[in-house]
Amino acid sequence: MRERKFWGWGFQDQVLSKEEEESVEKRIAQNFDLNEVEALPIPLAKDIELPKAKVIPPETLKNILSDDHVERLNHAYGKSFPDVARAMLGSFPNPPDLVAFPNNQEEVVNILDWANENNIAVVPYGGGSSVCGGVETDVGDDYSAVISLDLRNLNQVLEIDKSSRAARIQAGIFGPALEEELKKSNLTLRHFPQSFEHSTLGGWIATRSGGHFATLYTHIDDFVESTTMVTPGGVIESRRLPGSGAGPSPDRMVIGSEGILGVITEAWMRLQERPKFRASCPVLFDDYEDALNATRLISQSALFPANCRLLDANEALFNGAGDGSKHLLILSFESADHDMDAWLKRSLEIASEAGGQYELPQEKKEDAHKSGASGTWRNSFIRAPYYREASVRRGIIQDTFETSITWDKGFEFIETLKERASKAIKEISGKESTVTCRLTHTYPDGLAPYFSYTAYATPSTMIDVWKNIKIATNQICVEHGGTVTHHHAVGRDHRVKGYDLQRPEGFKDMLVSAKSGVDPRSIMNPGVLIDPKGIKHKHWMED
Ligand SMILES: Cc1cc2nc3c(=O)[nH]c(=O)nc-3n(C[C@H](O)[C@H](O)[C@H](O)COP(=O)(O)OP(=O)(O)OC[C@H]3O[C@@H](n4cnc5c(N)ncnc54)[C@H](O)[C@@H]3O)c2cc1C
Repeated sequence: MRERKFWGWGFQDQVLSKEEEESVEKRIAQNFDLNEVEALPIPLAKDIELPKAKVIPPETLKNILSDDHVERLNHAYGKSFPDVARAMLGSFPNPPDLVAFPNNQEEVVNILDWANENNIAVVPYGGGSSVCGGVETDVGDDYSAVISLDLRNLNQVLEIDKSSRAARIQAGIFGPALEEELKKSNLTLRHFPQSFEHSTLGGWIATRSGGHFATLYTHIDDFVESTTMVTPGGVIESRRLPGSGAGPSPDRMVIGSEGILGVITEAWMRLQERPKFRASCPVLFDDYEDALNATRLISQSALFPANCRLLDANEALFNGAGDGSKHLLILSFESADHDMDAWLKRSLEIASEAGGQYELPQEKKEDAHKSGASGTWRNSFIRAPYYREASVRRGIIQDTFETSITWDKGFEFIETLKERASKAIKEISGKESTVTCRLTHTYPDGLAPYFSYTAYATPSTMIDVWKNIKIATNQICVEHGGTVTHHHAVGRDHRVKGYDLQRPEGFKDMLVSAKSGVDPRSIMNPGVLIDPKGIKHKHWMED
C-alpha cells in the first residue's frame, strides 16, 4: 500500500517538482523576505518520539488494532494548516494510542463495544482530509485512551441498482476508486470535492461535503438515499426511499454528524449517468458588482450550470487565470442526455446584458473546460494542496475560509469580509495581506464565497498567528450573518467564536440529548460539534 505523508497532502511519492517548488518560493518572495528564516526540513518519522500507548489491544481485537508508529503519526491530525504545521515541526503531543482497521461492520461493532466498556474515546477516520480539527485525537483527560478508527478496509461498491440508478457503497472508499468502479456501469456519483483524491464517501457524508459542481446538487446530502451507522448503542439503518414525509429524516441526523453519534459503515447513494455533452465559456467583467449580479441572474434562471464560479480579479491573478484587471466568471454546462449549447448561449446573454464580455471559442471542443483561463484555473485548483507544503516549511500561512449568505447582502458581505479579514491579518501578522474571493457554489437565494489569504509568519510563530487569524475569521463570518462554514464542517476549530455562537441554543440541547441516546458514555469524537453531556472540552485554540 502507498504510504501517505504524515506531514502533508497525498502520498509520500507525490512531492512538488523542482520547478513547482521554485515557483512557490518565487511567489512568496514577491511579498516576504525569504532570507529571514531557514526552511524547515521535511520531518522523518523515526526522529519523532510519541508518548507510549495508554492501552494494549485485547487478544480478540489484536489483528485490527495497531500501535504502529507511522500509523499513529498519520492519524494524529487532519490536513488543516496547523495540522500540517505541527506535523512539519514534529509536534505530536496527543497521538491516538491505537489505530483500528476494521474489515467489516461486525468488527466496527466489536471495537465500539470494547471502547465503550473501557471508556476509550473513538475518532472515526476516513481520508483524514478534515480541515477543522475533525479527526484530531486530542480529546482531553476524561478518557482512559483514544483510538482512531480508520475505515479504509471498508472500500467496496457492494451493489448497483441500475433501474433506480443507485448503489450500496462502503464508507471507506476513496473518491478515485469509487468513480473507477461506477464507470464500469457508465455511472457516476458526480461529487468532486477538491480533496476527492484523498477523502472517502463516509467522510463526505459525515461532513456534508460540497462537490465542485456549483449549482443544483452542491452537497453530498442530495445524493444520500439511505445510511447505515454503528453507534455504541447499536446499529441504525434507514430505509431506501426516493423521498419520505415520515417525520424527521434519520439520514438527516446522520449526514453532518461528524463522527459524534457513530460510525457510518455504508450508504445507498443516488447516481447519475456520465455526462457526454459539455459547453463552457469564460466571461470577463470590469466591475465586481456587475459580475455578482450576472451570477445571481444565472443562478436564478433555472439553467443550473455545472460550473458557475466567479473569481475576483486578484483570485484570477493569483491562479494564473488573469492579469488582475478583470473578474472572471467560469461558466460550464454538462449533460448525459442533450446538447448544452442552448443553455450556454442563454447564460451568456444574461451575463452580457449585465456587463460581461466573452468570446465563444471558434471550435467546439469536448474538453474546452480544460483549456484557456478556465483550464489554467482548474490546474491550479488541483495542485493547490501540494503547493502549501512548500510555504509551510517557510512558516508562511496560506489558508482559506468559506461561508455563505443570501443575495440581498451578497456584495456588501463580500466587500466587508475582505476588508475586515485583511485588517485582522495585518494586525496579527504585522504585514499587509490581500484577501481574495471566489464563489464556490451559488443558489437561487444566495452564494457561497470562499476567501483565500497569505499571511506572514515564521516557523516558530506560524501556529499562533494562524490561530488568531482563524478565530478572527470565524467571528467575522458569523457576526455579519453568514455561516462559519459552507462545506468544510465544524470539527473543533470552527466552534471557537463561530459555530458555538451561530447554533441556536435549543438545537444544541437537542443534539446533546440525541448523542446521549446512542452514545451514553460520550466516547464518540468528543469535542467535535458540541461538548458531550457533563464534559467541558478545552480546545487548544482557547489556551
Ligand atoms: C486540500 C483540501 C481540499 C478540500 N476540498 C474540499 C471541498 O472541495 N469540499 C469539501 O466539502 N471539503 C473539502 N475539504 C475538506 C475535507 O476534504 C472534507 O471535509 C471531506 O468530506 C472529509 O472526508 P474524509 O474522508 O477525509 O474524512 P475525515 O477527514 O477522515 O473525517 C472528517 C470528519 O468526519 C468524520 N468521519 C469520517 N468518516 C466517518 C465515518 N465513516 N463515519 C462517521 N464519521 C466519519 C471524522 O470523525 C471527522 O469528524 C478539503 C480538504 C483539503 C485538505
